[in-house]
Amino acid sequence: MKRNSRMPGFYKLSVADRRRAAAEALGIDVAEIEAAVEDGGLACEKADKIIENVIGTFSLPFAVALNVQVNGEDFIAPMVVEEPSVVAAASNAAKMVREGGGFIAEADDPIMIAQVQLDEVPDGARACTRIHQHASELIELGNHAVPGLCRRGGGVRSIEARDLGDGMLVVHFHVDCRDAMGANLVNTVAEAVADRVQELSGGRTGLRILSNLCDRRKVRVTCRVPTWALTTDGYNGGEVRDGIVRASRFAERDPYRATTHNKGLMNGLDAVVIATGNDWRAVESGAHAYAARNGSYSPLCVWRADGDYLVGSLEIPLSLGTVGGPSRVHDGARMGLRVANARTATELAMVAASVGMASNLAALRALATEGIQRGHMALHARSVAIAGGAIGADVERVAQLIHGLGDITVDAARRALADLAIAANSAPPPSE
Ligand code: NAD
Repeated sequence: MKRNSRMPGFYKLSVADRRRAAAEALGIDVAEIEAAVEDGGLACEKADKIIENVIGTFSLPFAVALNVQVNGEDFIAPMVVEEPSVVAAASNAAKMVREGGGFIAEADDPIMIAQVQLDEVPDGARACTRIHQHASELIELGNHAVPGLCRRGGGVRSIEARDLGDGMLVVHFHVDCRDAMGANLVNTVAEAVADRVQELSGGRTGLRILSNLCDRRKVRVTCRVPTWALTTDGYNGGEVRDGIVRASRFAERDPYRATTHNKGLMNGLDAVVIATGNDWRAVESGAHAYAARNGSYSPLCVWRADGDYLVGSLEIPLSLGTVGGPSRVHDGARMGLRVANARTATELAMVAASVGMASNLAALRALATEGIQRGHMALHARSVAIAGGAIGADVERVAQLIHGLGDITVDAARRALADLAIAANSAPPPSE
């Protein structure tokens, strides 16, 4: 079924109506959505089987980003995140990107790296040569350890030995993990080949584990946003475009800014990673190592002007899976994967990276114009209203009051709530 991720007014609906609208757009039975996401998507008995010392579960909001178009196809991106305005900002920016044809994404094959460390190698150069001479044998040995993966078209593709000096050597096994994130698969390969690698090197085996710097599994996304689509109250599109380009150049020169620039990107990307049950620590460590690959921490996404367009380009290593990991047991993660509707892990990575790019664009657009606080604080006011004791319809009333006062504090929320209660008690009874 061809999906449409444009759903104007979605944000105004109740949670129940949003579920119905999403179910219809996704072709999923609404009862299945309800069952999967109610109570955080994970029963305590299951949680107790996943990790150790469990005393409960911990929920986060599950939302969807709209307007996302990747390579001409619509995606409704699942997002799990606790920070206000991330989902709205990503959806809004995705709409601007859509005006220029959406995100154009491409990705490497899903190749992960298994590392085998060797110590006390007597002759590093000779060991590297011997290991490369026995590449076919080692690849076969590695593949023997992951028959299921090989049956699905994955497996060890190549090897690379590097002399790290002082008798230390590392051998990389490049493993195509197909639709798996791959950590366990790759670790299995590393352990299976270690003895033979040790023999060939004449040294002693050390660690045997994947590298989270999966720089053979990168996603590249570009977008062209027409300048007019960037217009805000008080700023024309050209001013916004140039402000975003200046902000990008700032991040390219300054690691302090680049860190926050990338944080804005990871806001959206991580939310998709978490919603689909993927390992966000793996994604984070890989992304930041890659951002620092040239010796100075840099932005993962850069922005330039091209005539009447703002052009963004992002490159990021991304190890996501649509099989294995928590998706086997976590109902919420399974629903996240169904909502994302990606045909492969590679496609899921392209969608997640596109949402990351949308988040980056939204943050830079706000920063380059009115600043980020106005929109952010309007949404933050709702959380503060809840912390001040507001429930139901009072949340929005209190949020608007404290936002209007410019005093978004729990004390102000309590006072506003008390004022609302007094006003309600002294109001005349409703007429019939
Ligand atoms: P996994 O152990 O669940 O293995 C994936 C399984 O899915 C394999 O048995 C494979 O044969 C099967 N499979 C079915 N269909 C497939 C398809 N189309 N493509 C590929 N495989 C298919 O999961 P994994 O991906 O090997 O490991 C991911 C888990 O490992 C995550 O939970 C992660 O948190 C964890 N982990 C991460 C690290 C790290 O990042 N440093 C280290 C250890 C473990």
